[in-house]
Amino acid sequence: MTGTLYLVPTPIGNLGDISQRMVEILELVDFIAAEDTRVTVKLLNHLGIKKPMAPYHRHSTEASGRAILNRLQDGESCALVTDAGTPAISDPGEELVAQCAALGIPVCAIPGPCALVTALAASGQPTGRFTFEGFLAMNKKNRRAHLEGLRGEERTMIFYEAPHKLAATLQDLSEVFGPDRPLTICRELTKLHEEVRRTTLGQAAAWYQENDPKGEFVLVVRGAEHVQEQKSTLEDGLILVGRLREEGLSLRDAVRQAAKELGLSRNELYDAAVKL
Ligand code: SAM
Repeated sequence: MTGTLYLVPTPIGNLGDISQRMVEILELVDFIAAEDTRVTVKLLNHLGIKKPMAPYHRHSTEASGRAILNRLQDGESCALVTDAGTPAISDPGEELVAQCAALGIPVCAIPGPCALVTALAASGQPTGRFTFEGFLAMNKKNRRAHLEGLRGEERTMIFYEAPHKLAATLQDLSEVFGPDRPLTICRELTKLHEEVRRTTLGQAAAWYQENDPKGEFVLVVRGAEHVQEQKSTLEDGLILVGRLREEGLSLRDAVRQAAKELGLSRNELYDAAVKL
């Protein structure tokens, strides 16, 4: 029988976030695939767990992924862990899960720490609809193209960012979305120096031009204001009726269709069309 791949989230700072289920799964599996075995061994020592490990990191060769899949197909169970947070979220795992799905190997995701969800929940920004954008590219042109694609985005946007790129990213965000756009900066979540700062893109960009960023950051940016669609006028309706008549529709059908498309009163449009 095929084994199961378990995706096991680990704390993003506070070891108190270790869950009972996470420990149970790490104890249960035959082996642990880890982004960095040196980081994971510290966690395992803390938990008093001894388990064989296999490396599975960002630059893993196809062979190391293949070796894990082979073991799963031979019936062994595996827990995939990364250095912090949920595997496959801006971390290794996405490809392995897709390969398991293609091969019919069961995947079981354990819920747990994830910086983006923690930041969104604390942000005070609308949480009903959001988009996770991960890290922006290093390359200036690609970063700008990514942001330009989000110009009219109305959902709350979440970005991960490394401290050494933060100032440049805030500058780009401010230029594309405008300096007044509300922003929540979530820094060092769950850690001693946790900070949730509600500010604007312009203020944050100016602050980090002057002050060195320290720690890990999630940026939660308010979506664009909803632009009300321009209301159609009776005149627009008459133009559309004319066009539909030319296509062969009767006056009554043209009015019905035009009124529906433009959100106009059918009676008013009909009276105006008859007068013409
Ligand atoms: N898989 C992880 C998760 O579930 O959140 C994310 C891994 S990604 C390589 C690392 C990025 O996550 C950091 O650069 C930062 O943007 C964010 N991050 C991780 N831990 C954080 C923390 N404690 N506070 C703020 N951001 C954090």
